[in-house]
Amino acid sequence: GQCVAVCPTGALVERDYTWKVIEALADPDKVVVVQTAPAVRAALGEEFGYEPGTLVTGKMAAALRTLGFDHVFDTDFAADLTIMEEASEFLDRLTRHLEGDTSVKLPILTSCCPAWVKFFEHQYPDLMDVPSTAKSPQQMFGAIAKSFYAEKLGIPRDKMVVVSIMPCLAKKYECAREEFSVDGNPDVDLSITTRELAHMIKQANIDFRNLPDEDFDDPMGASTGAAVIFGTTGGVIEAAVRSAAEWATGQELDKVDFESLRGLDGCREAKIPVGDLVLHIGIAHGLGNARRLLDAVRNNEVEPFHAIEIMACPGGCVGGGGQPYHHGHMEIVAKRAQALYREDEGKPIRKSHENPSIKALYEEYLGKPLGEKAHHLLHTHYFKRHKI
Ligand code: SF4
Repeated sequence: GQCVAVCPTGALVERDYTWKVIEALADPDKVVVVQTAPAVRAALGEEFGYEPGTLVTGKMAAALRTLGFDHVFDTDFAADLTIMEEASEFLDRLTRHLEGDTSVKLPILTSCCPAWVKFFEHQYPDLMDVPSTAKSPQQMFGAIAKSFYAEKLGIPRDKMVVVSIMPCLAKKYECAREEFSVDGNPDVDLSITTRELAHMIKQANIDFRNLPDEDFDDPMGASTGAAVIFGTTGGVIEAAVRSAAEWATGQELDKVDFESLRGLDGCREAKIPVGDLVLHIGIAHGLGNARRLLDAVRNNEVEPFHAIEIMACPGGCVGGGGQPYHHGHMEIVAKRAQALYREDEGKPIRKSHENPSIKALYEEYLGKPLGEKAHHLLHTHYFKRHKI
């Protein structure tokens, strides 16, 4: 059946595809691969009586395995991949800009939030060349699963079903965008929300609280702390700065925490010294804040930014429309964000470009960031749409 819920990010309705997921899991001819977005692990526990801000990463992996997914992977792996491409693109544009090339535009805008991308396509057709062309982690994951990983397994792409667990309603729409499919076969077949996953776990009578903590599978389950913080406002740009700064200076960062990029102010800015340069970074979450910031940039009312991160949901994905309801209590969203920063701090590797599985993926398959194969699989383009 179809369940309908109101989406706080726009005029979207929630389509419940859990029955299609169950159908795929029951089909012996399909290999079903699952990916879980960073924000899910920080909120799923609330559906099982845990305090907001409790991380349930290990139990979530165990639950997915119990539900019958063949490969339990992590969108965080693809978030690291997104940083490889997006930070490379940023440095490339920045270098050319500093050399006086007027054909490149700054600031670069993050492009991993599909509600923001759609808003942008409608509202800022004149700024179409500023968002990064990097696909979102969800879509990078699907593209790599159905090429590199399907080839590794020796199966055709239509035998693989990629399911994503997302904090988000707009991700369902993103999967359906035509440019994210090959000959009608989508890179990500089905996207369900955190709430829908919780429902599936309950329906299957899985005793979530007593599950053991399990790990993700290899190779698309390995991730760094930089990927984990994608789930909160400011996290994507912090992850990008960690890699871009080291690449630009050739030196290891003394400290990877950029506190000036963190917090819950709707619109904020930070100045970050990188070598001889001071990066001017903007962050907005909530579409009203995004509009105010972008209008100011478009009208040259603010000191020029080098990069801007925008998320449609207040708080970023931890506050997403597919998460357990927080009924506007931003302290719950803040606790989920703190949980992600804790997970980041506890990770042995905290920079995307140091993820060994990502390095191996480039060596074995992709070549280099922004290279031909990476461009083909990991980058996208945008469409001018009529004003809403
Ligand atoms: Fe989805 Fe909201 Fe995250 Fe955007 S900010 S990707 S709409 S959950």
